[in-house]
Amino acid sequence: MIPRSDSSRIVCIPHTGKSWQALYADTITDPAELLQLLALPDALLDGACKAASQFGLRIPRSYLTRISSGHPDDPLLRQFLPLGDELQESRDYRPDPVGDIDAMPVEGLLHKYKSRVLLIASSACALHCRYCFRRHFPYSDAALSQDKLADAINYIKNDISLKEVILSGGDPLSLSDEKLSSLINQLEQIKHIKRLRIHTRLPVIIPERITAELLNLFAASNLDIVIVLHINHPNEIDDTLKLAIEKTKPYGITLLNQSVLLKGVNDDVNTLAALSEKLFSHGITPYYLHMLDKVSGASHFEVEEKTALALHSALCEQLSGYLVPKLVREEKGKPYKSPLSL
Ligand SMILES: *Cc1c(COP(=O)(O)O)cnc(C)c1O
Ligand code: SF4
Repeated sequence: MIPRSDSSRIVCIPHTGKSWQALYADTITDPAELLQLLALPDALLDGACKAASQFGLRIPRSYLTRISSGHPDDPLLRQFLPLGDELQESRDYRPDPVGDIDAMPVEGLLHKYKSRVLLIASSACALHCRYCFRRHFPYSDAALSQDKLADAINYIKNDISLKEVILSGGDPLSLSDEKLSSLINQLEQIKHIKRLRIHTRLPVIIPERITAELLNLFAASNLDIVIVLHINHPNEIDDTLKLAIEKTKPYGITLLNQSVLLKGVNDDVNTLAALSEKLFSHGITPYYLHMLDKVSGASHFEVEEKTALALHSALCEQLSGYLVPKLVREEKGKPYKSPLSL
């Protein structure tokens, strides 16, 4: 960690000239507007509107530059475009597939695994991923308000077996720096907590979120900081994201990535290999490749287990061992995310 005074040499002028908050606020939520902007067929509109009435469309306008117009199958577009396919009822697909609601000892805090807890620090995300396993989760009820936060902090204080706190959501980086700072300060007071892990997709969608203020906040912390990004496809890594990642380098932050294996997005070995290569060249280590959680509305993204295993072993053949993410599935009641094996 470099001291606060040194960080003034890091120039963090947003690439687009707009603040991250302005970019975050400038979103597309109307399916008709999205179809028009990306020159997509009108035939998609009816399904898009129906799907969006169950889980809203949300995508920052600035993200559209990474998507090629006129291609309904663009792998980035598929991640946030509502489709009529979401309305299909599927056996085994449920609103709370991973048992989150049962794993909350206090509201807003999930304690499933030993030595770490997950705080639902915010209910908001920059974009709505159609496959999100929390798409039906009662976020606004579960996200931490100030009085619930006090209960969560007390729970963490009272369990000395805990070493790590994970901020998740929603997206924890949708919080203002002031709120994050106050949360981090409270966690720093707890002696047995050594690490702060942040699960976030926001810097991928809006790289301008990596500001000097945010980096200073991490640098000033006595906790080890781990950021787990969520990137599914190499096209998501553009020059703006590359610049933002470079700014984190002097701060000694550990950068990992988790992806979800998604049909029509990244279910082929060349895409996954290119993703790993690109991640590593930007200083990000591939961590997990998740099997889709069976959340209702997402069955059209499913990659069968047999196919997933074949893809993973092809990836192992092609890449250095440390470039291969672990292929895992979250199973209700298991003590860790279960690796898939042949
Ligand atoms: C995924 C998850 C974690 C983190 O698991 P790791 O295997 O350590 O990455 C922790 N808590 C909950 C509730 C989770 O869902
Ligand atoms: S960023 Fe994560 S929590 Fe938010 S919608 Fe996407 S998958 Fe869900």
